[in-house]
Amino acid sequence: MNTLRISVTSIREEGCVFEERVRVSSIQPPDTKALPVETALVRGRFERLGDEFLFRGRISGVYEGACVRCLETAQSPFEVEVAWVFAEGPASVFEEIGHALEMTAGDTRDASSSEDARRSFQGYEINLAPYVWEEVVFAQPSRFLCRDECRGLCPRCGANQNEGACHCAACHDPEQTGNRGLAALAELFPELAPQKTKE
Ligand SMILES: [Zn+2]
Ligand SMILES: [Zn+2]
Repeated sequence: MNTLRISVTSIREEGCVFEERVRVSSIQPPDTKALPVETALVRGRFERLGDEFLFRGRISGVYEGACVRCLETAQSPFEVEVAWVFAEGPASVFEEIGHALEMTAGDTRDASSSEDARRSFQGYEINLAPYVWEEVVFAQPSRFLCRDECRGLCPRCGANQNEGACHCAACHDPEQTGNRGLAALAELFPELAPQKTKE
């Protein structure tokens, strides 16, 4: 169920606090790829600006994916600040088409989705879901790293080098790591070893 809807009649002059944690899959538009993030926390305040409404707050969550070096699960938290102005009226072309399009990490935002662009709502209810979804999409990391100093997997035996050194010579010999296929072959077939090692 989408809990990111608010009735505008509940937003009085003094404004109101809004805080909801949603399952990201519950606000995912049809025909889009699922995102590797479980929930998003939406925290902020609605304020009335004459006939319009301002939502100012933060959207946060934790992306999870395989570390590019060691393949262990890595977490990538995000928190973005948003300020959206909502006005009653027909949905813009961008809102009708834009949110149906699949957006991937690294896409650049165009002017129509900039922070100060007006968003529309119909009737008496503001639905934050499409805008929250959009922010979560843009917050997706292009790659995961479990920690900056991750030592990755041994290129030869596949051992996780964060858990200690393996016993491969290749791990400690920079000359062989770059050429591990040949190095492994040379071990099996000494006669094929590169000429420079000949004695
Ligand atoms: Zn790692
Ligand atoms: Zn190794």
